[in-house]
Amino acid sequence: MSCPDDNLLAKMQEGTLEDEQLRELHDHFDECRRCAELLMVLGRQLSPVYRTSPAVLSC
Ligand SMILES: [Zn+2]
Repeated sequence: MSCPDDNLLAKMQEGTLEDEQLRELHDHFDECRRCAELLMVLGRQLSPVYRTSPAVLSC
């Protein structure tokens, strides 16, 4: 899978992605340093609920 575009990332933040899409994204984040860093930046901009959720942090 190639790097996700803005549209896909926006959907991820909204929580409207399909489970399959979300899994593919996380697989990609595991192997793409650029996206992993991008995710960390995005994480700081997400809601407090998202940031403090153990389920999200532990995956
Ligand atoms: Zn990437």
